[in-house]
Order: sequence, then structure tokens, then C-alpha cells
Amino acid sequence: MKNCKWCDKNFESDISYQIYCSEQCREQATKEKIAQRYIQSRRQKRKGKNRLCKQCGEKLSIYNDEPLCNKCVINPNDVKKALKQIKGMTNGKSK
Ligand SMILES: [Zn+2]
Ligand SMILES: [Zn+2]
Repeated sequence: MKNCKWCDKNFESDISYQIYCSEQCREQATKEKIAQRYIQSRRQKRKGKNRLCKQCGEKLSIYNDEPLCNKCVINPNDVKKALKQIKGMTNGKSK
């Protein structure tokens, strides 16, 4: 009895090196691996490069995939607007 490395299902196999229960699981795992490698190489390329936030000019982390820093991804004006809306709704309902 073996455990599929992708979906964790038990399966039987005569092939000793088979680690996935099905073709689909193998394909999914391969895709995931390629995606991981792609993200890794993109991060490697960013090393030593100064990427700045498009909005506030703050230095971006190499792990940040956005052109904006964490603070600017959430627009403070949008947050304020949303809060106002929520307040308005609760005020209307209160007794
Ligand atoms: Zn599987
Ligand atoms: Zn910013």
C-alpha cells in the first residue's frame, strides 16, 4: 500500500517509484512544481534590484508580487468609505 504524494489517497502499485495514485495527480504535482520554480526565479531576479512602491515610493520586499507596498495595496480611502457605509447601515437599524 502506498500514499499518493499529491492527494494522500492510498493506492496499490507494482511500480516501486510510483508516488502518485493517478495520471491526474502526477500532472497536478508537476504543474505545481513548475509554478513554484517560476515564482522562485522571479524572486531571484528581483534580488539586488530596488523596486519601489508606485504610490508611496517605499522599498518593496522581493516577496511582494504587487507594484504597491502592503500599505498601499489596501487603499486607505476605500477603507474609510467602506467604514462610513457600514456605520450608516447600523445607525439606520438601531432603535
Ligand atoms: Zn492521488
Ligand atoms: Zn506604498
